[in-house]
Amino acid sequence: MTLPDNLASVRAAIGQAEAEAGRPAGSARLIAVSKTFDADAIRPAIAAGQRHFGENRVQESLEKWPSLKAEHPDVVLHLIGPLQTNKVNQAVGLFDVFHTVDREKLARALARAFTARQVNPACYIQVNIGEEPQKAGVAPSETDALAALCRDELNLNLVGLMCIPPAEEPPAPYFALLAKIAARNNLPRLSMGMSGDYETAVRMGATDIRVGSAIFGARR
Ligand SMILES: *Cc1c(COP(=O)(O)O)cnc(C)c1O
Repeated sequence: MTLPDNLASVRAAIGQAEAEAGRPAGSARLIAVSKTFDADAIRPAIAAGQRHFGENRVQESLEKWPSLKAEHPDVVLHLIGPLQTNKVNQAVGLFDVFHTVDREKLARALARAFTARQVNPACYIQVNIGEEPQKAGVAPSETDALAALCRDELNLNLVGLMCIPPAEEPPAPYFALLAKIAARNNLPRLSMGMSGDYETAVRMGATDIRVGSAIFGARR
């Protein structure tokens, strides 16, 4: 399978899951996760019409995305990996959407950097939905307080929640929990679902699914 074939079959599966769930076509946005792949591997995806891309490392992204974005100004770049506060300024200069706001210190650093650049990009709070010690994200029980801080005090453009469910368990109950926490905070967007579980995520209301290996193949 070539990359355009992979992309077409992921898009078809998303469309089918949307239809099965009674959701409008296109209501789940596909973010192609291009981490570990270089610019030459990414260009065919852009040529096939893909516009939303996700990366998990600031440094790696700085090596390939400035030139790709110059070539294709309508590309939207999503940060989906952990962000250290000392990388915030670089990240804010490159990324258009932030999925991994997971602590007060980071929220404050982002708010300062956004103000300095006069931007207000869409942000998501990452929730450690399975309360796994090795995983990033705010605890489910602390999400409401972080959301209130981001919105009311820092005036971030907080649009939703993001999660990565535990690897060895069925994801649906975790997706449902994320949707419940988002609903009680009036947050419309849900960033959830990866190559192995994106169809389930779409059925559970995902608005942003982050698919890497099903599009680009196994990571190098
Ligand atoms: C790598 C990554 C993905 C994509 O994973 P695949 O299983 O390759 O689709 C999605 N979300 C995050 C946060 C990632 O780091």
